[in-house]
Amino acid sequence: MDDLDAMYQQIILDAAHERHGYGSLQIFDGESFQVNPTCGDQVNLQLKLSADGSAIESIGWEGEGCSISQASLSIMSEMLEGVSLKDFSERFDEFRTMMDSRGHEIPDEIAEHLEDAAAFVGVAKFPMRVKCALLGWMALRDAAAQAEAKVESTH
Ligand code: ZN
Repeated sequence: MDDLDAMYQQIILDAAHERHGYGSLQIFDGESFQVNPTCGDQVNLQLKLSADGSAIESIGWEGEGCSISQASLSIMSEMLEGVSLKDFSERFDEFRTMMDSRGHEIPDEIAEHLEDAAAFVGVAKFPMRVKCALLGWMALRDAAAQAEAKVESTH
């Protein structure tokens, strides 16, 4: 294991322990329940948009699963609160690209954008674990689509 792998592993372990964003929201615009049957991870995620509907104001989630799924939810929640939906969509595509990389090096630009979420690049080597890392991102994308549809229908 090289130094970068060790650093990434520490980021994942810390995040799994911190569980940033854990807890349900009182008021929310979108909600999504996702299950990863191959590992048994599950999450119920809620999203509240900003007043103008263009950004993620807060994320709350409850669930259980392996440390990769929990760490990914934690890092994603911390990173994406306050981010515009447009930027979220870009981060989602970058995270997906990285998780599809099978552990090959990803462009520096993507790694920079993904901040701590870049720590999951090593997980991409293990096809069985890719879904663990993607679980929270799929839930957020689904909740964001619902929230956007709701905003559009009230305007
Ligand atoms: Zn898992």
